[in-house]
Amino acid sequence: MARTVTARFAIGVDLGGTKLLAGAVGPDLSVHHRARRLVYGLDQAALVDACVTAVEEASEAVGGDVSSVGFGIPCLIDQRSGIAVSAVNLPLVDIPFRDLMAERLGLPVVVDNDANCAALAEARAGAGHGATELLMLTIGTGIGGGLYLRGEVYRGWIGSGAELGHMVVERDGRPCQGNCPNWGCLESVASGTALVREVSLSVARRPDTALGRALEAGQELTGPMITELASAGDPVAGDAIGVVGRALGVGIANLVNIFNPQVVVIGGGVSAAGDLLLDPAREVMALRALRPGSEVVRVEAAAFGAEAGMVGAAILARERPPGIPSAS
Ligand SMILES: [Zn+2]
Repeated sequence: MARTVTARFAIGVDLGGTKLLAGAVGPDLSVHHRARRLVYGLDQAALVDACVTAVEEASEAVGGDVSSVGFGIPCLIDQRSGIAVSAVNLPLVDIPFRDLMAERLGLPVVVDNDANCAALAEARAGAGHGATELLMLTIGTGIGGGLYLRGEVYRGWIGSGAELGHMVVERDGRPCQGNCPNWGCLESVASGTALVREVSLSVARRPDTALGRALEAGQELTGPMITELASAGDPVAGDAIGVVGRALGVGIANLVNIFNPQVVVIGGGVSAAGDLLLDPAREVMALRALRPGSEVVRVEAAAFGAEAGMVGAAILARERPPGIPSAS
């Protein structure tokens, strides 16, 4: 079947360190079908297969009326070739992701960093609607970063920017996670992984709490569980989110000083904690960042929530001429 850009839907895929979300997105950015896959622990081949089956499911759900597919992946990408060069939290190494997916799916494919996609969605129609200078931090297994500057996504020279989560906030801090060779990155102190670590350390001292009892009952400690219990008033979960939020504020202060953004948008799974996370981050940013940038910036939760990356990938698929490198 000949497919043209007049097809109604674009499929956006957000591939995270733990799970994948594919959505069939209409021109008004409404999501008509969502396909989910768990990807934690998969090797590269299984990961690629999971992407393919999720896109096929979303495509079938809208009768194949699909123009193109956009992938937001937590990878450093060389946009000259569409190669996913490296990922901190996924087994993707030097894989020609764009061409491989186009071949497997038989559709035009664009690929970008997942946080760049989220920044695009939030700038166009989300928490930063109308802003020309927006920074995005997506907080999940790791911390992704996206820059939307002068009204477009800024990816650097060959398209592998912007890894804001790997700015160093503690020079002699703990080793960063996954494949990052650095120490003391923002990701090592303010990600979902850091949140789980923070809770593990403190819950042993306070076993007589909802969280302590959940662990006692054999439940696995996860980011979503912690944010849920924090919202319900659990003190250990709430304190841990505060610790992570203050660490996040240090990173935001750096970014406000460097970029003077209108808005900093916080997305990813951990952002479900809302103001429990954002208020401590705002306080620390206001104390540490320089005036006047610190006084005019807004720090907001992603309006698209955990779907910002998926929606942004679909916007990218719809807008970008397929196969044209963005770094030109
Ligand atoms: Zn790092």
